[in-house]
Formats: sequence, structure tokens, C-alpha cells
Amino acid sequence: MDANNGKKINRMIFVVAALFVVAVLAISFIATLTYNSIANANVKENETETVVNFASSMANYTDARFSTALSRLEGYALSFKDAENMSDDDLVNKLKLCSSDNAFSQIAYVSVAGRTCTSSEMSVNPRVYVSSALTGVDTVLPSEKIYCVPVYDDHAEIIGALMGIADSSNTSFYQFSVFGVSGTSFILDANGVVISGPDIPSLDFSIGENMLNALEKENDLNNLKTALSQKTVHISDNFTYKGEKYVAGISSLTSQDWTIVTIVPESALVEHAESVITPMNSIVFGLTAVFVILAGYLFYFTYHIRKKADAIVDENNKINYIDDITGFSSWKSFMESYEKSAVDTSSNRALLALDIDKFKTNNDTLGYEGGNNILKKVAEIIDCDIADSDFFARNGADHFIILAHYDKEEEITELVNHIITDIEYQITDIKVTVSIGIYPITDRNLPIRASLDRANIARNTIKNLAESRYVYFNYTMMESIRAEKSIENIMEDALEKGEFLVYLQPKYGLVEDNSAPNGEVIGAEALVRWRHEGEIISPGKFIPVFEKNGFITKLDFYMFREVCKLQRTWKNKGLTPRIISVNMSRLHFPDPNFVDTLKKYCDEYGIETKYFEIEITESAAYENINILMDVFSKIKEAGFHVSIDDFGTGYSSLNMLKDLPVDVLKIDRSFLTENADEEENASKIIGCVVSLASSLDIATICEGIETKEQANLLSKLGCDMAQGFYFARPMPVKDFEKLVYDIKE
Ligand code: C2E
Ligand code: MG
Ligand code: MG
Repeated sequence: MDANNGKKINRMIFVVAALFVVAVLAISFIATLTYNSIANANVKENETETVVNFASSMANYTDARFSTALSRLEGYALSFKDAENMSDDDLVNKLKLCSSDNAFSQIAYVSVAGRTCTSSEMSVNPRVYVSSALTGVDTVLPSEKIYCVPVYDDHAEIIGALMGIADSSNTSFYQFSVFGVSGTSFILDANGVVISGPDIPSLDFSIGENMLNALEKENDLNNLKTALSQKTVHISDNFTYKGEKYVAGISSLTSQDWTIVTIVPESALVEHAESVITPMNSIVFGLTAVFVILAGYLFYFTYHIRKKADAIVDENNKINYIDDITGFSSWKSFMESYEKSAVDTSSNRALLALDIDKFKTNNDTLGYEGGNNILKKVAEIIDCDIADSDFFARNGADHFIILAHYDKEEEITELVNHIITDIEYQITDIKVTVSIGIYPITDRNLPIRASLDRANIARNTIKNLAESRYVYFNYTMMESIRAEKSIENIMEDALEKGEFLVYLQPKYGLVEDNSAPNGEVIGAEALVRWRHEGEIISPGKFIPVFEKNGFITKLDFYMFREVCKLQRTWKNKGLTPRIISVNMSRLHFPDPNFVDTLKKYCDEYGIETKYFEIEITESAAYENINILMDVFSKIKEAGFHVSIDDFGTGYSSLNMLKDLPVDVLKIDRSFLTENADEEENASKIIGCVVSLASSLDIATICEGIETKEQANLLSKLGCDMAQGFYFARPMPVKDFEKLVYDIKE
């Protein structure tokens, strides 16, 4: 992720956070509004219902009060059926007795004729109130708390009436308080005239006043009117009175033709509703605030984390796009540039795979820092030599990949030569050679991996790593790679199946005037052959592959063991042992158990180590002379003979010989020339090598002797032994046994 992406994400986070806060606020606002309106409606509806219920209760209560009072009075009336035969004193006493149970504070008896007796002195005249009762109708005067019932004699004739005045302490029932709101109840008759009610200034309907008339001017009062005329039990109405709004609960009495109207100011209900809703609003507001604060914090937190992440991304970009060792573009950056440059088809492109030869050796010699310095210098040289449009990067270890643009192929060759020369002349700490594989990208659709493989395949074909070289890719190389792959697929199997065979090439002792190839066989070299599907494959085809993939070490041990077995069978047959030399790859050097393993095999077969010679090619010396010395010493200490194979092909100096614990020097056949002009020089060199070796007590053997002349020359030059087709070719064991021990099948 690059910095721009990071910033984009930051902006996105900001927008999302802002949208989130706005959304929360909007949702909370809408929710509050909706809640308020629903809550308001609900609370109002509930409260109106409560007012109506209250009116109902009032009606029931009033009905109950009236009938209780009247029933009680009727009960008293029964005991007054003889009233007309009683004296006034007796009547008064009886009345006093009745009033003593506290249901009525005062009771009066009024006869049909107008005779009046009271339980105590009254402020009102009972005769005024009893007229209906004297006609047989129970009467209630709620405002005066007066109840009247007729008094019957034994013949059910009305003889008078009883009037009771209820206890005054019951008067407050017209006023009530519900949810902290004070309500007022009135009793109205069927016309809306106030029968009873409290005396309060805000609703100053006095008794006898028609409430309907008083209110009708301003209100339609449909429900109230219906209730009064139809005696509706349970209904509400709203009205305005003196500028104030009221809610009324209406419920008719069953005992009288009256109606209870309970009135509550709407403002009191609203206030109450608010007292219910406001805390909810506060909660919503509080939660919203907490939410917004949390969102803010979250944004702040995320923003800072992102800022930090951006810083890390920037740092990573630096790490990702710059190679920490060379300080130039990284491989990642190369890949991106490669993709971008692929779009431009105006010029040709080539991929160059450059490897520093034997870089590991350089690293061992110069140390880690020194090795890094070489990498840096190579990178600087490449950077200097390539064109502006070209680019390169290190692709792990000591591999550099260059993408170069060109018009003609010569331009690439020129560039490569430049790089090679500059590396040769500008890096002076140590001799640095490079191998360069070149793939002119002919197939533009080929993925970079495949193009890279082709450049690497070309580079891998470079064998001699003693000087810088470059190679162009061609399709035959692909074939050899395929062949290598097919070898790799079957090598393990082949080893297990015993397809690798020991061939022996005899070594002969050279004597003065060695005219015939039948001198004494003093030993032999074990050379591997691969018999696969009836065909014998020579080492040149597979040893380089095994050297590359490391399988050679397994094969060497196998060969060594096979030779041990041979020696054992010969020993068992009582034959004179011959020194058999076995080739060992330099890849064994890092193995600390290398020599011990060889010894272990000798012990296993009970063969003394002195019957073996270990051949190590001279090119191994180029790797690291110290390691070579160490390995040679160990081999010698174990009792094996040691020889330097192919001497003269590598770059080891003759001087080196005095330090190496070597028994035999195998002079490479390249010294033997068939060209007469060069013969003199060649013999001088061989003579020189032979005399130097003999002065160091090192025996010499010349390999690849094909002619009698060559054999004679070497004999003359003092070479101790010879090996070559002239004497004998590498042969199967059976042939060797026939030749040397005369063993017949
Ligand atoms: P080398 O160790 O230098 O073996 C000598 C090579 O020269 C052999 O080739 C042999 O056949 C060949 N040669 C001998 N006399 C003549 C001659 O008069 N003229 C010509 N033109 N060639 C002659 P070969 O057997 O093909 O082996 C090639 C190389 O493979 C060997 O070279 C050796 O380096 C390697 N090699 C063979 N067997 C083994 C093995 O078991 N282990 C290892 N590590 N390398 C092996
Ligand atoms: Mg050899
Ligand atoms: Mg050799």
C-alpha cells in the first residue's frame, strides 16, 4: 500500500465518521420527535382515559353514597310508623337516637300535616325539603347533603317524611388529585344545571347555574350533551373556559337522572405528560451524546492508528522499494517498472541475468562486509552503464537482473561488454568475474518469470567461471534444461536399482622407452557409467547435472563403496591389491564427516585406506585454498592417497603445490598436443611440472595418452605413470579382472 492509498483511506475514515455522527444525530432527532409525538398522544390518551375513569368512579361512588344514605334513612323511617301517636319529646328522643350513629349529623321528622321535630336545632327548615318525599319519592340534595324519604304507617299510608343531613366532613369528595393534577367533579342534572360541586374560582360554576349554557358559547360540547341526554356512562369531552382548555370525564349516575362531570385543566395534563416524556428525551439525548463522543473518539483513535500505519507503510515502501544492500531499486520496484515498461512497444527489450561467479568464495575471503561492498560496486557499475530508460535490481544473493532497451542486438552486446570490462577494471579488491545470460524478449506475452528463466538458462550454460562471459539464450538450451530435468527425475531410482556401474581404467607405470602399452598395471581409476534401459550413458551427460543439484555426493559415496566391495572380493581371492582412485566432487568439502564416511566404508569391508586414492579436480583449488588444504590433510591423515586431477586446466599456481599435502599430480590431457609446432612448448611445460612435482616428492601421472609417441615423450620427461586409451580404455570390472589378474569367468 502506498502513501496515497493511506491518505485516501484517512479521508474515507473521516467521511465515514462524519456521516456516522450525522446519521446518529438524525436518527436520534427523528426518533425523539416520533417518540415525543407517540408518547404525547399515548400519555394524553391515557390521561384522558384516567379522567374518564375517575368520573366513572365518582359516579359509582356517588350512587353508592346516595343509596347507602337513603337506605339508612329508610331503615330509620320504619321505626317512625307510629310517629303520629308519639309525643314530640318521644319523637325528638328517637331522632336523637338515630343521629347518634353518625350517618347523619341531624335528622328531622315532618308529618303530612306539617308537624316538625328535629334531633337538634336546625339552620334549615325541613319542611322546605320534604315535599317530594311526602309524595313517596326519595330525595337527594347533594349540595346541601340532604336526603329525604317517606314514612309509612302499617297500612302503607304516607304519614310523614324523614330528612337527614349528612356529615359535613364528606364534602371534599368533589375534588381530587390524580397524577399530581387536581381535578374537580360536578354533578349536573339532565339539562346541565349544576346540582353540586366545589366552590373554586377557576371553575366558578355555582349551584343552580347551567354549565352547558355557560360553556356552549365557546364549545360544541357534543359528548357532554349526548351524555346528559342519553345518560352515557363513559365518555370524555374537551372545552375551553375563560381561555383555559379543559378535559372532562363524563359518567352518568344510575341512581339519579344526573351526570358526574370531572374536569381537569389540559395544561396540567400536558405538564404531566412532559414530566413522563422529558426524562425519556434526556435519556435519548444522553445516549446520543455518548454515542457521538464514542464515534468521535473512535474516529480520533482510528485516525491516529492510520497515521501511524501510514508512517509504517512509508517506511515499508522504503524497505520494499530500495534494496538494503546496494541502495538501488529493489526487486519489487523492478517488477513494477517491468510491468509498466511492457506497455511501451516502441523499442525492443532484453532481460539480462548477471551472476557474480563464485561469490560465496569472495564472501569467504573478504568477509560479509567485503562481499556486500562488491555487490554495491557491481550495482553502481550497472547503474552507470545502462541507459536512462533501462532499469535493474538485485534478485537475491549475487544475482542482478537488468532490463535493457535496444534497437539492434549489437547494442546489447556492447552494453554487456561495457559492464564486464568495468567490473574487471573498477573492482580491484579481488578478481570479480561475472556470467551474463541474455534473453532478447521476442515473445512480449511471455510472463516475466518465464523470460527470466530464459535469461538464467542462458547464464547457466556458462561453464568456465574463470573469466567473465555472456551468452544469448537459444532454444537448444531449453532442450538441455529439459534433459537435465528428466535426468533429475530418475537419478534416485537409478541409484537404488544399481544402474550406476564402476568402470576401471588402468594406470600404467612408465619406464624409459615405454614402447608398448603392456607395462605394469599399477592401479586404476574408477569411472562411473550409467546403464539405463540397456544403454550406457557416459559421465559427461549427467555429472554436471549432479554437480548442480548436489546428487553427486551420494553417487561418489556409492562408487566408493562399490570399489570397497571390489577390493574385498579381490582380497578374498588372495589377489595383490591395486590402488584404485575414486573421483570425489568438491561438494563434499563442507561436509565435516566426509573423510570419516570414507573411512567407515573401508572399515566396513576391512580394506586398508592405503589402497585408495582420492582424486580431486584442480578447479576445486580455485574455490578456497584453505578449505582444500584442510580436506587434503584429513584425507591424508586417514591414510588415503590424494591426487590433484586435471592439473593444468584450472588456475592453481605451481607455487600452491608446496603447501598442499598431495601424493599425485594428474596432468591434464590438454597438455598433450598433436600439433607438431606446439609440441616443443608443451613438452617444456610438462617437463617443468614433472620436475617441480618430483622435487616436492609428488608423483606424476599423465592422463589421456592416446599414442605411442605421447607415451614415449612422457616417459622421457620423467612422468611416473600414464593413463589413456593408448594403454587401455575404461572397462567393466570383469574385463579389468581378466586383464590384471587373469581371472576368467
Ligand atoms: P577424469 O576424472 O579426469 O577422468 C578421466 C576421463 O578421461 C574419463 O572420462 C576417461 O574416460 C577419459 N579418458 C581417459 N583416457 C583418455 C584418452 O586417452 N582420451 C580421451 N579423450 N579421454 C580419455 P569419463 O569417464 O567420461 O569421465 C569424465 C569425468 O567425469 C571424469 O574425468 C571425472 O571428472 C568425472 N567422473 C567420472 N566418474 C566420476 C565419479 O564417480 N565421481 C565424480 N565426482 N566424478 C566422476
Ligand atoms: Mg579423475
Ligand atoms: Mg582427469
